[in-house]
Amino acid sequence: MKVKLTLFAVILLLLNSCDNTSTTSTPAEQTLSKSDDTFYHYSIWWAFVNKVFDGTLTAKELKTKGDIGLGSYNALDGELVMLDNVPYKVTEDGVVSVAKDDELIVYANAVHFTPEQSFTVDSTVHHQGLRDAINSQLKSKNVFYAFKIHGEFSAIKLGGLHKQQKPYETGLDVLIPNRPVFEGENVTGTIVGFFCPEYIGNIGVANYHFHFISDDKKLGGHVMELTGKNLKVEVDPIHKYTFELPQTPEFINGKFDKEFQYNNK
Ligand SMILES: [Zn+2]
Repeated sequence: MKVKLTLFAVILLLLNSCDNTSTTSTPAEQTLSKSDDTFYHYSIWWAFVNKVFDGTLTAKELKTKGDIGLGSYNALDGELVMLDNVPYKVTEDGVVSVAKDDELIVYANAVHFTPEQSFTVDSTVHHQGLRDAINSQLKSKNVFYAFKIHGEFSAIKLGGLHKQQKPYETGLDVLIPNRPVFEGENVTGTIVGFFCPEYIGNIGVANYHFHFISDDKKLGGHVMELTGKNLKVEVDPIHKYTFELPQTPEFINGKFDKEFQYNNK
């Protein structure tokens, strides 16, 4: 027993000394995030792609998971953008409203946003230019990030989804390329979004996923294209990830055979 205890003490000492050495030599690389934020994910992308279009998460519950978020409502009856803990709903006709507390959600990402890095993109950029600017600032592509990006958009093209009727026959691999499109000019607003590393696979949307809500709350949706300037980008690195599966027969019995990913690197 004595030997074991001594060994234990030596290991503890070694661990401590390792810790001290690494902390003093490379503090910035050791910790990307000071906070304890958790990436909350309702359902999985692969189920959503494969016609699991109903969930049991309410808008009221989502508000406890974070203050920013994105996703879709049941039966694809609206794209979800949550900003300042208010979940907005953008229906297929482009109309924006605030979701009622009992509104059901099929797919969502959310986080309690605590930005730890910010920078501005002053010059005019398109969607890829914005992603390139963010790519150049991220310290690692192996962790998760949440973003809030506010600025002026001389043009923005946003996608919605057509509301579906049961039994659901068409998956997102077909519905997304044929989605309704809402276009705005000279609007100010906020992009809310997330970055997931490629290793997320079919669980989530790999790389960037951005939704938008205008300052006047009249325009919103999934960001497809943009021309913007004076963009303030706030970044929250996230090291914890949790997902919650819908406890529905459609999820339990679903056949997840189709694959679809955006190409938002
Ligand atoms: Zn989206």
